Amino acid sequence: MADLNSKISLKLLIDAHSDKVLFGEAGKDFVDFLFSLLTLPLGSVIKLLSPSTMIGSIGKLYQSVENLNEIYLVANREKSSLLRPKLSSCYVTNHFLLDTETTVELKYYICNDCNETVTTVKNTLCPNCNVVIDTEAAFVVPSCSTSRATTRAQNGGENAGGFVKGVITYMITDDLEVTPMSAISSFTLINRFSMKKDVQLMEKVVTVGMEEGIALLKASLDSSTPLTDVFCSPKKRAKAPSSSAVDDDLFS
Ligand SMILES: [Zn+2]
Repeated sequence: MADLNSKISLKLLIDAHSDKVLFGEAGKDFVDFLFSLLTLPLGSVIKLLSPSTMIGSIGKLYQSVENLNEIYLVANREKSSLLRPKLSSCYVTNHFLLDTETTVELKYYICNDCNETVTTVKNTLCPNCNVVIDTEAAFVVPSCSTSRATTRAQNGGENAGGFVKGVITYMITDDLEVTPMSAISSFTLINRFSMKKDVQLMEKVVTVGMEEGIALLKASLDSSTPLTDVFCSPKKRAKAPSSSAVDDDLFS
């Protein structure tokens, strides 16, 4: 998965007349980024987008925890576990939108006596045999345990990071439907748009960094056209009402 310093490129097919994205074409890195949004805890999403900009009431819920005095929390419980939840680095490596402090290397300890219980806190008592659990066990990420030859073949020579296989090109519609690219699927979409009047197809390559990543996350939560919202005429769209489903042409 890409890290903060790298930019991901995304090819967009745009209707220049209406300034709307027909669909995007991208490789593994952009699809990995999109899919990784599903692994974000809600607390992390609200922190990234800032509570006051959240739709619905979830921002208020977040602010309630921020404002609550620590004395009301049970022992060993910190507000940060709700406001800045940590993700295990076993599953999320270099999450595009999260700082490195958010992903933690969890350690696992196993009971040497019964070999049946594990814990993430060293020196916890085993409920089976009442002995201290202090033997560290190595966590094996499932995708890394398959044979190297198989993994390399499946990923087209790339490392087994992220979620989807490389080599393949993926098609992403404006409402973020992701499918493997095929000539038929792209022709179908182009045909559907070409039936409308005054369509002027144009190709545009954009890069996705931190700023665009956060904008995409936000747009994916409150718009059905996130690619258009983020990559087409932001100034023009800023004047439009908050509901991005409304056709901009009506207001220009
Ligand atoms: Zn035990």
